[in-house]
Amino acid sequence: MDRRTLLKAGGVGLFGLGFGGCAGRSTETAQPAAATIPLAPVKASWDRVIRTTVGLRPHRPSGFVVKAAKLDDKMVVHNYGHGGAGHSIGWGTGSLAADLADAQDARRAAVLGCGTVGLTAARQLQRRGYDVTIYTAAVPPYTTSNMAWAAFTPTSGLIGRGGRSPAWEAQFRAAVEIAYRELQLLAGRDEYGIAWLNSYSTLESLPKERTAPPRESQTAGLLPEYMRGSREILGPGEHPFPTAYASRRPRLRIEPSVYLDALMRDIRLFGAKIVLRKFDSPRDLMTLDEPLIVNCTALGSRELFGDEELTPVKGQLTFLVPQPEVDYGFGGSIDGPNGRVRASTNPRRDGIALSGAGNAPGEWSLTPNEDAVRQVVQGAISLSQAILAVPAGERMVTAAPRRPAPAVDDFFDRES
Ligand SMILES: Cc1cc2nc3c(=O)[nH]c(=O)nc-3n(C[C@H](O)[C@H](O)[C@H](O)COP(=O)(O)OP(=O)(O)OC[C@H]3O[C@@H](n4cnc5c(N)ncnc54)[C@H](O)[C@@H]3O)c2cc1C
Repeated sequence: MDRRTLLKAGGVGLFGLGFGGCAGRSTETAQPAAATIPLAPVKASWDRVIRTTVGLRPHRPSGFVVKAAKLDDKMVVHNYGHGGAGHSIGWGTGSLAADLADAQDARRAAVLGCGTVGLTAARQLQRRGYDVTIYTAAVPPYTTSNMAWAAFTPTSGLIGRGGRSPAWEAQFRAAVEIAYRELQLLAGRDEYGIAWLNSYSTLESLPKERTAPPRESQTAGLLPEYMRGSREILGPGEHPFPTAYASRRPRLRIEPSVYLDALMRDIRLFGAKIVLRKFDSPRDLMTLDEPLIVNCTALGSRELFGDEELTPVKGQLTFLVPQPEVDYGFGGSIDGPNGRVRASTNPRRDGIALSGAGNAPGEWSLTPNEDAVRQVVQGAISLSQAILAVPAGERMVTAAPRRPAPAVDDFFDRES
């Protein structure tokens, strides 16, 4: 059965998922195609898989640390522990770290670490006139920051249940405002690899309207409402996904390999040096000339500064051959040949990133979980095959009356 025939037959039987909730749908020919969304298909297949990457998110149950501490005659400003949100809030915590640095009388700063947090902190210091040197054990592409999905997910994996304090919340709110603005200002400039993309999610049925306040979660109420962005609910016939409904939300996302290189270029342009050096103990830091040290070593702070609250949250991504024509992401679950599978896609110049399985709190191993690779690749294959390319000049309609779309945020942050 070809796609057009399948469409006219109502599409029932796609991997057993069917079109739940689409009774009464029919097709009309020679209608304007205004209701359909032309999305370039993702070519998901096993022979297009090019790599799997693993990274360890630096999680702290009581959230990131931004604070100043004296170390002999030096001042250390800590800026680490960003969980699954380092790309999203780094510019902001970097600015808070620079505020703490400003309270000192130093104009030369050593920044420890060259991931997204160290690089953005270095830029914030340079903007205030500091002479900066980055000291680091590894540079991109060998940092955790290179292994990220890297959407704007400012509360993801950031804090544990009961970990919030009013002082930390105030820091988070200040940081996220600054970071959201900074990322927007870089968006759309090719050399930074930051863009607004539409992100689609499949929905089996209309999300329930909220009658009660949002459920209590560790991040409930942390994020200003306007940062959640508007989510549209698309009804039957308005989208090409194999479920009755789908949601669409514009989202900021970063391409780490482009972005981190651009930040390294910028900090050097403003006079910084990058020195490859690993520190094993605070005593090693005494050999530095700079009176001010900004510590952005992420999980490295566990050993270096004895912060035992830091714990890894392993995550992995699998990549397909890049497709420049694909300018949207999607996520959902579907019945595959061997059971239910789920996947999310994120198109980048270095490949189409797939996520959806393989997160492991507390695991230090950098070995890919092959079972998780199988799940996300199969999920992407099943979902992409099921996405219907609605032929031009033809659209699907539903006889069911539309219900108003509720304000929902259930799916926010789920990838990272
Ligand atoms: C699969 C995955 C998906 C993710 N998705 C998202 C997302 O969608 N959005 C988002 O915002 N975030 C996401 N993240 C989280 C994000 O990647 C991290 O929060 C971020 O990379 C932390 O940045 P960092 O600079 O603190 O750490 P890192 O990138 O780990 O950098 C730490 C730096 O410190 C250096 N260092 C460490 N110890 C020492 C030492 N002893 N001496 C000298 N140098 C040292 C390292 O060499 C490195 O240069 C994701 C992460 C993963 C793994």
